Amino acid sequence: MIYYGKQSISETDIKAVEEVLRSDFLTQGPAIEQFERTVADYCGAKYAVAVCNATAALHIACLSAGLDTGELLWTSPITFVASANCGRYCGADVDFVDIDEKTYNMSAAALEEKLRRARRENKLPKVVIPIHLAGQSCDMVRIKELSDEYGFTIIEDASHAVGADYLDTKVGSCAFSDMTVFSFHPVKIVTTGEGGMVLTNNHELYEKLLLYRSHGITRNPAKMTHVSDGAWYYQQIVLGCNYRMTDIQAALGTSQMKRLDAFVARRRELAARYDALLQELPLVTPHVMEGANPSWHIYVVRVAFGQISKTKQQLFEAMKEQGIMLNLHYIPVHRQPYYEKLGFRQGDFPQSEKYYDEAFTLPLYYDLTNDQQDRIVESLRKIL
Ligand SMILES: *Cc1c(COP(=O)(O)O)cnc(C)c1O
Repeated sequence: MIYYGKQSISETDIKAVEEVLRSDFLTQGPAIEQFERTVADYCGAKYAVAVCNATAALHIACLSAGLDTGELLWTSPITFVASANCGRYCGADVDFVDIDEKTYNMSAAALEEKLRRARRENKLPKVVIPIHLAGQSCDMVRIKELSDEYGFTIIEDASHAVGADYLDTKVGSCAFSDMTVFSFHPVKIVTTGEGGMVLTNNHELYEKLLLYRSHGITRNPAKMTHVSDGAWYYQQIVLGCNYRMTDIQAALGTSQMKRLDAFVARRRELAARYDALLQELPLVTPHVMEGANPSWHIYVVRVAFGQISKTKQQLFEAMKEQGIMLNLHYIPVHRQPYYEKLGFRQGDFPQSEKYYDEAFTLPLYYDLTNDQQDRIVESLRKIL
């Protein structure tokens, strides 16, 4: 069976984990800071905070942005539910901005229009979360300009985009945002088993992220309400969580980061091969915006199923019979029953819904061979 994604673990990765297991610290030890430093330096960001998964990272990013009950968070409908749920965890209301029909990322034009309307109605968002779908950066220059004009905090959900380039920056540099979130789930580009991270260049946000990661507890006398009682003393000054990453995971992450450029190079090679091999087929291959160089977490194609003799369900089943598991990223979040109960309806975000009707994800991962990829394309050709 060929799945849509799969981790690549080397002997060196295994040794790195083993070393931690033999050391004094399984959690809250030196491997965490080393991993944070490695990722921050790679991206050109000042600060990084490692956490137990990207969902937790999105949550503490929202908390640190000050998102609160009754305020608004906007994101894209074409994302994993976590990018919206983090707003609900804070008691905020969630709304969506439709996607661009070419890149499938949040449309900057739709965002601008929605912001204009929101200003008139006095309902501007506190936080906007653009998703770099497939590892392709959103139009961050434009989104940053809009943030300067309308005053929202930008949290980039870069769960797909570790190692991606945008203009002359790495995604994660936070050159166009307040914070950037990465995921290290095994299907993502770099893995720690489960894991996530928030990057920022803002020291105040960095300190808040550290607090929210670990119970809201500080040992810094300058942050306490009175002089410390003694060496044992700490204070809980906000309501935080326990979202810490273990040193076992961080060691795997640091080891995987050494392989990141090779991971991304191979993913780019496979994406370029798909682009070429799929040319004759009745489907739309990904469009890359000028200035973006994606890391290709996933490779999404679109078929106008109404115009061919097969349904999407039939295609998925026929491919499965050939040993190939297709996938779909994503079901529009506003169509989930939980969000429909909050008032969202079919028809609210037409581009996202059309995308959902047509899109599916082909297998793409570091260890996928050219032969396997040829087999995938051949099966598709026969079925379509
Ligand atoms: C994977 C993913 C997440 C959640 O990541 P976890 O580490 O599994 O919590 C959030 N947003 C997007 C876009 C993702 O792909």
